[in-house]
Amino acid sequence: MSDKAVFLDRDDTLIEDSGYINDPDQVKLLDGAAEALIELKKLGYKLVVVTNQSAIARGIVTEKVLAEIHERMRQLLAEKNAFLDDIYYCPYHPEGVVPKYRKESNYRKPNPGMLLEAADDMNLELGESWCIGNSSSDVEAGSRAGCKTVLIDTPSHQREAGSHMSQDGASPDYRAVNIKEAVNIIKKHLRSPSDEKPQSQEAAVDLTEPTHDHEAAQDACEAAEPEPQAQQHEPEPERQEQSPERHIPTAKTDELLGDILAQLKSMQRTEMFDEFSVMRLMAGVVQVLVLFCLLVTVWFLMSPNRQDNLVFMALGFAIVLQLMALTFYTMHGRK
Ligand SMILES: [Mg+2]
Repeated sequence: MSDKAVFLDRDDTLIEDSGYINDPDQVKLLDGAAEALIELKKLGYKLVVVTNQSAIARGIVTEKVLAEIHERMRQLLAEKNAFLDDIYYCPYHPEGVVPKYRKESNYRKPNPGMLLEAADDMNLELGESWCIGNSSSDVEAGSRAGCKTVLIDTPSHQREAGSHMSQDGASPDYRAVNIKEAVNIIKKHLRSPSDEKPQSQEAAVDLTEPTHDHEAAQDACEAAEPEPQAQQHEPEPERQEQSPERHIPTAKTDELLGDILAQLKSMQRTEMFDEFSVMRLMAGVVQVLVLFCLLVTVWFLMSPNRQDNLVFMALGFAIVLQLMALTFYTMHGRK
């Protein structure tokens, strides 16, 4: 019996992307990543990282150091009881400086080679699997492999993209602001009445130990060829056969409402992101100090041994700080 998997991009999906990571100490898990993996595992998915590592071709990192980086990532995840089933990486890039790795590869996303290889190795049903990542190449690779796709679409990424479609036209099935929301989307999809998988699958908890990293990716790169698998991408006809016609509009409406709700949540978060300002924060802090100075002024005034110079000094501080607060508010308004 085939398993299903969630293919996960690495940088800016599971760990912080600080450029080309070339030291295990640079690995930092993103907020909620481990918890998301635990949830996905509970849903019965194998967890497979698929990551382009052109840093190897560019001579920035060696495969040995990359293995250490991935070991560090596994270690940080294990500390939170999250375990990956495998990690596939593509070391190649056509413009690499290391001759051994300077070439095109079907493993390099947006090509689907890593996903197809993993499906072969682990007997995965790609039509039941998902691909989660923060770039259009992740979406295209997942889509070409026949998986459903979720684009991690942060507010900053939305501003850069400035459109609903990803740059190369690959359109994700869903969008999420982070991996936690991506997991919620998958959960909701599984609960959908039109989905083939029963909800009871969620109870299939499988907290297995991790398997070994996939260290021989490059060997298969040479043999693999791009194989767009559009035929696996449309399970709709089967669903229609299973469900009475009356149920189809309900399921589609539910899905549409879910999409709208997710979009509204995303917009709300974007607005919250836009609302935040260091100037506004500073103004708030200074305003609190103003109130404190005014209280001190009143206290000096009420004191039996009142000293006018102390009263004026506290009042002076309050006035100066109030002017600072107003300045910060003004600067925030001009942001
Ligand atoms: Mg990424």
